[in-house]
Amino acid sequence: MLAALALTGNASSIHAEGRAARALLEEARDTVAKAVGALAPLVTFTSGGTEANNLAVAGAPVARHVVSAIEHPSVLEAARASGRPLAVAPVTAAGVIDLEALERLLPGPPALVSVMFANNETGALQPLRDVVGLCRAHGALVHCDAVQALGKVPVNLGLIGVDLLTLSAHKLGGPQGAGALVVRDGLALTPQLRGGGQERRRRAGTENLAAIAGFAAVADTKSTHVKALRDRLETELEDAMIFARDAARLPGTTCFARPGTSAETLLMAFDLEGIAVSSGSACSSGKVQPSHVLAAMGVEPEQARGAIRVSLGWNTEAADIDRFIAVWRKLRARLGKRAAA
Ligand code: PLP
Repeated sequence: MLAALALTGNASSIHAEGRAARALLEEARDTVAKAVGALAPLVTFTSGGTEANNLAVAGAPVARHVVSAIEHPSVLEAARASGRPLAVAPVTAAGVIDLEALERLLPGPPALVSVMFANNETGALQPLRDVVGLCRAHGALVHCDAVQALGKVPVNLGLIGVDLLTLSAHKLGGPQGAGALVVRDGLALTPQLRGGGQERRRRAGTENLAAIAGFAAVADTKSTHVKALRDRLETELEDAMIFARDAARLPGTTCFARPGTSAETLLMAFDLEGIAVSSGSACSSGKVQPSHVLAAMGVEPEQARGAIRVSLGWNTEAADIDRFIAVWRKLRARLGKRAAA
């Protein structure tokens, strides 16, 4: 990133400075493409996952949308705003898309089906191979938001066979403000940002070279070590309800609620101890909003209000989990007494 910041050129300029910036940009494109088993020309850099999802949904050449009920708001709201008919595929109590219900929604005009790789609240992995199989049988395009998956589980465009793949740098330790949409070869997409020929005319605007270089620097991150740590953490949660526990999940995500304790109480108590956890779908909001993901899984609103999410990442170590467990034991003793009183 520092090398990119030191370059003065614009990657679209043809002078030497511009060519140096272009070389760094294309090197980054190659690295990000390789991280997901794709070819460089398929990668369109964006300002992040939100923009990539909006581009995929609004720009796809389809007549309607089918989305899973647990998609990120940047997919759900882009589909609603597209003005095209929208159908929502339900999920099971384990937080996984209901394939039979999805299949019933597929016959009809050309559709874009958006099913995420892994859910950002529960970590539940979605059965993408099955989703793609069903969609192919009905001629639908498939969009997959893999923002939460990259760096945590293998993400390979060829293996999953989707048409559009959303990525974001900051979920794997990269800078905020960089992401990508990987677009299957030959798929025509309507740009949402116009007024420049950058990114093969898919996304106008001078690329954020330093952030993109940062994305490339982390594209190969692998945080598989966190599964053992997450599992140890969860052994301490015996009086809590762990959501999507019955699903295959990301290695570093746990979403749980302790009956009778609000998410705000837990979040503030952890924060005072220097531990950052999230409540509900706190991705973009400063305030706690009810989770559409837990609602779709049939979790009672009372229980959903207590849900907090703990995310482990590339830099999480055993000592962090020891500390979490010590704090959790202390809080549980305190909150338990308060509830009894
Ligand atoms: N998709 C998912 C599943 C996410 O979790 C997030 C952010 O948390 C996004 C999309 C948005 O990505 P960005 O923050 O890069 O806009």
